[in-house]
Amino acid sequence: MVQTCSVAFCKSRKTSSGDLHFFSFPLKNPDLLQHWVSATKKDLFFPNRWSKICSNHFLPIIIDNLLGNLYFKIE
Ligand SMILES: [Zn+2]
Repeated sequence: MVQTCSVAFCKSRKTSSGDLHFFSFPLKNPDLLQHWVSATKKDLFFPNRWSKICSNHFLPIIIDNLLGNLYFKIE
């Protein structure tokens, strides 16, 4: 299955050679989850554990923290 980004109009796809990262939604952190969902710019979007947002939507310093499995507010 090809990994895609949940953000509206984002065409990012996960490829074996790509340097994009895809991050899972912070489903166990309701406050933060709300920020991520609003960042998708989709109405009535309900992420599941397979939903991802690509690294194009994060600041570099936040990506470093995400890779360390810490979740910060999406930009
Ligand atoms: Zn994206």
